[in-house]
Amino acid sequence: MTALFLQLRKVLPSHFANRWACMYRWKGFISGIRHNISARLVFAYCNDNYVSLLLVVCLLAYHLLFAMFVWSYWKTIFTLPMNPSKEFHLSYAEKELLEREPRGEAHQEVLRRAARDLPIYTRTMSGAIRYCDRCQLIKPDRCHHCSVCDKCILKMDHHCPWVNNCVGFSNYKFFLLFLAYSLLYCLFIAATDLQYFVKFWTNGLPDTQAKFHIMFLFFAAAMFSVSLSSLFGYHCWLVSKNKSTLEAFRSPVFRHGTDKNGFSLGFSKNMRQVFGDEKKYWLLPIFSSLGDGCSFPTCLVNQDPEQPSTPAGLNSTTKK
Ligand SMILES: [Zn+2]
Ligand SMILES: [Zn+2]
Repeated sequence: MTALFLQLRKVLPSHFANRWACMYRWKGFISGIRHNISARLVFAYCNDNYVSLLLVVCLLAYHLLFAMFVWSYWKTIFTLPMNPSKEFHLSYAEKELLEREPRGEAHQEVLRRAARDLPIYTRTMSGAIRYCDRCQLIKPDRCHHCSVCDKCILKMDHHCPWVNNCVGFSNYKFFLLFLAYSLLYCLFIAATDLQYFVKFWTNGLPDTQAKFHIMFLFFAAAMFSVSLSSLFGYHCWLVSKNKSTLEAFRSPVFRHGTDKNGFSLGFSKNMRQVFGDEKKYWLLPIFSSLGDGCSFPTCLVNQDPEQPSTPAGLNSTTKK
């Protein structure tokens, strides 16, 4: 496996190889857990001398959680972040005009004209059109420039070093499922390991090296459970309010001013913005988020006369 990984690093583009490295980083931990699971099952078999139905159910549940965890982690890593579409890029003539007017009111006037037909409702803190000098484009709502990827990312949430990828519109659902399944995976291991962990401290286990694996397994699973549950809980709160991590730190600014809940449509619709309308896809790492990532419905229809009454991306949610 190591040789294969080293060969892959030579032939793959660097960003792709780095994402492989993220998967590979977990290999030791996961194979350790699988080894410990096997050790635990051997203990159970030796002690009880029969393989109970419960054991079979546990094995099936373990492998189901493991498969969903790896699938959602894979999708989070390898789904490329989405960038603004062509209509948000300035034309050659507009770029020339901007170069002549690098700052000031004339600069803003060029941007205002370019953004005239675009579905943009957010502004900078000073009320100006949001423009990325680096990518030379008008930023769609909720889009931010990632300094690591050096690109503008649609509905950017954060750049995650654990997946070596930007978490944004294209993979936010996968990231949430990755947190959920990895948390369930760790909780399952900690729960099923608990009785053997107690036996370890009461000298109820055979005196072999495998019993230390039981102790390590419990500590690792419990530690990851605590950190994952706080992160997952925070992102559940963000989804319920239809906010990104960046928006939680700095509220979006609309034409009428700052509004921390400007994109919130109510709990049910907020959930559907990320998970989609079809409930059968909610628990699967298959893309089902609503909208195109460039425009988002807001709750400001009555306050902002320029906001369309049926904003883009809301069409499917208003069916309900
Ligand atoms: Zn940019
Ligand atoms: Zn990034």
